[in-house]
Formats: sequence, C-alpha cells, structure tokens
Amino acid sequence: MIQALLLVPSDLKEDFFMDRSDMIHVMYDKKGPKVADNFIKRGFDACYCPTKEDALAKAISLIPKDHVVSWGGSVSINEIGLRPYILEHYTCIDRDTAKTPQERQDLMRHALLCDTFIMGTNAAVQDGQLFNIDGNGNRVAALIFGPKQVLVIVGMNKVEPTLEAAITRARTVAAPINIQRFGLKTPCSFTGMCDDCNTSDTVCNQLVHTRHCSPPNRIKVILVGENLGF
Ligand code: SF4
Repeated sequence: MIQALLLVPSDLKEDFFMDRSDMIHVMYDKKGPKVADNFIKRGFDACYCPTKEDALAKAISLIPKDHVVSWGGSVSINEIGLRPYILEHYTCIDRDTAKTPQERQDLMRHALLCDTFIMGTNAAVQDGQLFNIDGNGNRVAALIFGPKQVLVIVGMNKVEPTLEAAITRARTVAAPINIQRFGLKTPCSFTGMCDDCNTSDTVCNQLVHTRHCSPPNRIKVILVGENLGF
C-alpha cells in the first residue's frame, strides 16, 4: 500500500523496493559473483549466495546425507544456521562433546579424516584466495588435506582487494577479536591490537595462504552477501 503512494519512476521501482537496497548489499551483489568466478579459476568450487538462507540451502545441498561431518571454530557457520542443522541431521565429530582434554584432542585428530569439514575463513582475496590463522592448526590442517571435501562459508565482509590486505585483516582484525574469548596473556588481549608477539599464549602459530585448490573442487567456497563473523 505504501509503495502505491510513492512516486517512483517505473524503471526504478524494482531496485527501489528490493529488500537489499542499502549500498553495502548492492555492492556485495555486484562483487560476489565475480569473486566466485575468480575462485573457480583457481580450482575451487565456488558460488555466491545473496542471503544467509540461500547459503544454508546451498551448503546442505553439497553435503551427501551419509557423510560424517566435522568443523573448525567459526562464527559464520553458526550465523547461517549450518552447524545446528548439521548437528541435527548428520553423523558428526564434535570436539565439544569431549569430557577430557585428551578426548578433545582425539576428536580433533579424528576430524581430519571426516567426509565433509565446514569452516569459515579469516580473510579472502577478491582474486580467489583464502588466508587463515590458526592456533592449534586443526582447522587449517583439515583445509589443506584429509577430509574428502571442505566447505568454506565466507561473508563478503571478509573479502579484501589484495593478499596483503587479507593478511593484514587476519592479523590485525580477526586474530585480536578471536583471542578475546580465551582470556590469554597476549598483547592483543589487553590492547585489542596485534603486536606481532611471540608469547607462549599466541594463537598466531599457523598462517596459511591457500592460493589454488587441488584436487579441483575439493574446497567449496560459499560467498555470502552478508556481514558474517569477524
Ligand atoms: S601475534 Fe600475538 S599480539 Fe598479534 S594477534 Fe596474534 S596473539 Fe595477538
């Protein structure tokens, strides 16, 4: 009814009334498919999903029902609802079910041989590359080798113009935010800023740049036209 009262040129009505009309989403919808094409050129399977709901449906469609699934620590996989869905519908290897530190380690090692591993990324490059920082290394280990396939959920807020910008993002934004939940004694825990530390508590142990996917299509990148994670 409100739409009928507004004087909008007919050739602009579709754009004017679409849900994703704010400038960030307009930009994401233009950029996302091009970034997906760039991942495909580097051997990844990749697609762009405008919404969290689209991304969830796409991710589910890529995981066969008989797959054993595990995951790395990620806010993004929760924000699109994927981890809760997986817990309900698949056989899972869930380290959070461990009753002892040793059992947790065993589950993390076991997860390296699951069928589908799901994760977010600390940063991506618009030319189709991933950059990740890991403390234990289990998440990047699974990304590199082991699981039959890896699904990477990437909010468009993580896409940077260059590899250098992606590294800067991972080191100065993602890592200092991520560490706040652990209560560790690192410079960034106290200041919120990376000091390139070598403390025993550092979570910046493994810095992994994934520039090409081999075997082809093993890593499936789902770009999401929303701000996900940090
Ligand atoms: S290198 Fe040290 S200070 Fe920098 S983000 Fe990592 S843990 Fe924090």
